[in-house]
Amino acid sequence: MEVQLSERLKKLPPYLFADLRRKIAAARERGVKVISLGIGDPDMPTPDAVVDELTRAINDPADPNRHRYGCDVPTVEFPQAVKAFYKRRWNVNLTDDQIVTTNGSKDAIAQFAMGILNPGDIGIAPSPGYPTYAIGHTFASAVTYQTPLLRENNFLVDFDSIPAEVCRLAKILWLNYPNNPTTAVADLDFFKRAVEFGRKHNILIAHDSAYSENVYDGYQAPSILQVPGADEVAVEFFSLSKGFNMTGWRAGCVVGNASAVKSLRLVKDNTDNGSLRAIQFAAARALNLSDELTPKVNEVYRRRRDLVIDALNAHGWSLEKPRATIYVWAPVPKRYNGSSAEFCTELLEKAGVVVTPGLGYGQWGEGFFRISLTYSDDILTEAMNRMVKLKG
Ligand SMILES: *Cc1c(COP(=O)(O)O)cnc(C)c1O
Repeated sequence: MEVQLSERLKKLPPYLFADLRRKIAAARERGVKVISLGIGDPDMPTPDAVVDELTRAINDPADPNRHRYGCDVPTVEFPQAVKAFYKRRWNVNLTDDQIVTTNGSKDAIAQFAMGILNPGDIGIAPSPGYPTYAIGHTFASAVTYQTPLLRENNFLVDFDSIPAEVCRLAKILWLNYPNNPTTAVADLDFFKRAVEFGRKHNILIAHDSAYSENVYDGYQAPSILQVPGADEVAVEFFSLSKGFNMTGWRAGCVVGNASAVKSLRLVKDNTDNGSLRAIQFAAARALNLSDELTPKVNEVYRRRRDLVIDALNAHGWSLEKPRATIYVWAPVPKRYNGSSAEFCTELLEKAGVVVTPGLGYGQWGEGFFRISLTYSDDILTEAMNRMVKLKG
């Protein structure tokens, strides 16, 4: 039998990187030594202290629950560490009903939509942006309104530009700062405006804080929950993936508005079984040691960022150094007339270098491309040498 895809799967946007993936395979077949700077998955290993805690916990004969469903026998350590982290990092006090630990943010973002959206509701998602916000809406049979992140607005959401009708029908607005893919950062004043917008229109503000720990040059990323009263209208999705080199572990949390946290708990209770206790112990350890662990990781990304930006700026770009995230976001050279696909294809075919076309993150990402800094200095240097030769 041949299964038919569900209507919701058919509604997913075409996977824009599929074409690129085919072209990469073809280039490799022709013998081109392809360097890919496409994927935002940290190359550095998880810190030893975190791995050690996992090994300790999984080998602990005194813990009879170490193999069991993490949702039924959750650790007290993980949510406690989340609380302590938010207090230390942002002076935010969280109560138990304002925290739910997750198996990472991607899962939680998709699950979250199922808990609060009805068919026909609107969810507002930034473009360019992380695709899972809109995919979550689609899975919940809701509709996405894409709000553009424009360079002239420093890639911040322009709340005043969102049509009144959308404001009336929307139940949720997604934000993500420090931002993937634009690398933009937002200050507390921006989050104040976001909270005001949410309150005025009765829209839940969901802030994806996946890169809050990937920061440079003394920059500190704020939490939306630092805004007084934010917990009335906002939740924040925090993940250990990018800040602690823990993408494969699946550990994060959602904090803030208690009713929103409750709705996510309900969806999770019915769709997943939590994560292994040893992972929860290790995640707690990572958060407790954040002040010590993240600066070491960030020092490497800062050096790579400088390497890439300096190389591009020496060849006609004029980019500022991003203060956060693990990416560089740059306009495609003029002669490609703003076509990110055309630039990325030519870069692959003529230089054997893969970067991600901005269009892959939504229509407003067109004209740009993204480089991921999750590659060694040597790889980045070789890629930049090949790439700048193409610039015209
Ligand atoms: C990587 C990423 C995530 C997902 O991280 P998880 O590993 O699922 O926790 C969420 N949002 C953005 C913007 C990301 O780049």
